[in-house]
Amino acid sequence: MLVAGNWKMFKGPSAASTFCTSLGSAVDGIAGVDVVVCAPDVSLPAALAALDGSGIAVYAQNAHWLENGPFTGEVAPEMLAEVGVAGTIVGHSERRQYFGETDETAARRASHALDAGLAVIACVGERADERDDGRMDEVLHRQVGAIAEIAGPHSRLTIAYEPIWAIGTGRTASPDQAQEAHALIRSLLDVPVVYGGSVKPENAASLLGQPDVGGALVGGASLDVDSFAAICLSASSSRS
Ligand code: PEP
Repeated sequence: MLVAGNWKMFKGPSAASTFCTSLGSAVDGIAGVDVVVCAPDVSLPAALAALDGSGIAVYAQNAHWLENGPFTGEVAPEMLAEVGVAGTIVGHSERRQYFGETDETAARRASHALDAGLAVIACVGERADERDDGRMDEVLHRQVGAIAEIAGPHSRLTIAYEPIWAIGTGRTASPDQAQEAHALIRSLLDVPVVYGGSVKPENAASLLGQPDVGGALVGGASLDVDSFAAICLSASSSRS
């Protein structure tokens, strides 16, 4: 089971260091869970230093599909690997919504990051209007299909099912809704699927107890050590 905290544009190096030192103690000895923090690029070295030897991995939040080139503001997976970063998120809905990410660019990012030796959490999920129109299946087929076509199944690839209507809204998919979407995604691409969308200590156990839910991608609740550690511990109990 994988529990990854996506800090988004929060926590500079100093806050990252303090958080990671506390997290290392809070989840020390946890069984059956791969714990990950996804830090802003500038905070990656501080997170790596604070988590050295803890077993907690540090991921980036995005990576480019080429090794280098004239792409101002982008970072290549090879550069992340060079500093010791173990993986990256790609295709987050905020990248799709605000920065022009498409199914194709998300899939290309995933493919190149895998080639560069990183683990990848590739995000998919439908908007509220798409769900209301009964188009969830179609959207997931399209998004997962692009990743399957370009990146294919891979031992370091995880899909995050993040219904956009549940991200940062306090609205969470019900365990049944999550299970239905995860089963569909797994029928399209045989890799672990984690759930994201307002996961909190209070709802983690019921979501993580679903058979096709392989963990959680946590935004807001990952900014607080106690709530993130509680979700990690819930994941550990859900499979024991
Ligand atoms: C996310 O940004 O990936 C996310 C799931 O956010 P939140 O947990 O805040 O809904």
